[in-house]
Amino acid sequence: MKFSCKTQTVLWMVAVIFMISGMPVRTLSQSSPLPIDIAILEDPLDVLRLVNRDNLLDKDYPDQTIDMYKLENVTLPVTKGSHQLRPVANAALEELFKAAAAEGMELYVGSSYRRYRNQEVIYYNRVKRMGYDDGYSQMAGASEHQMGLAADVVSAEYADLFQTEFGETPEGIWLRENCARFGFIIRYPEDKTDITGVRYEPWHLRYVGPEAAAYIMENDLTLEEFSALRIIALGEYYGDALALEDESEP
Ligand SMILES: [Zn+2]
Repeated sequence: MKFSCKTQTVLWMVAVIFMISGMPVRTLSQSSPLPIDIAILEDPLDVLRLVNRDNLLDKDYPDQTIDMYKLENVTLPVTKGSHQLRPVANAALEELFKAAAAEGMELYVGSSYRRYRNQEVIYYNRVKRMGYDDGYSQMAGASEHQMGLAADVVSAEYADLFQTEFGETPEGIWLRENCARFGFIIRYPEDKTDITGVRYEPWHLRYVGPEAAAYIMENDLTLEEFSALRIIALGEYYGDALALEDESEP
């Protein structure tokens, strides 16, 4: 059977359309639940790591032989003691303090890096005093303070008072409204304790980078919720490769 020239053209067009529609399409921007660049979601700086009771840190985290984890001294005003943070969080916190000062806010660092052993002692003392775990202290390995990416930031008035009312003071409100610009989030929001497992802490800032911070704060998310979206986004980006691996299984 012979096709006319016109019919052949149509058949070719149909064949090409079939070929194109069967091709794997990598459209992260269309299918991803997060409008954030894949290079950021891959987290080469280890700033998006989820740490909580179900995702514990090792005793020796962060590895002090690797530059990006090397803790630096904090030179900002503090309530007491000496403080350390990872360089990326330290630099960002300095910028945050500068911006706050320019708007008349006087802020202090109340807590920062805490090693595993310290957290172990804090948790033990709290549970011993209360007779049960009342959710005020994190068990060793579950505290973001061990990451060197978290800082408790307070005003002079609340220097020793870690009370939720701080969130309604000018400093607390300023932190909530501006922290994302510097890559920080309010890690334990007021209405999300059922998700975070931690009470409302308007002073606890966690560095995640400006892109993730903007998305989390704008959409009123926790890091737990963001981490789920990130897993889906990465899965969809690598979906084709994952599917091929599945097919090769016996
Ligand atoms: Zn804290």
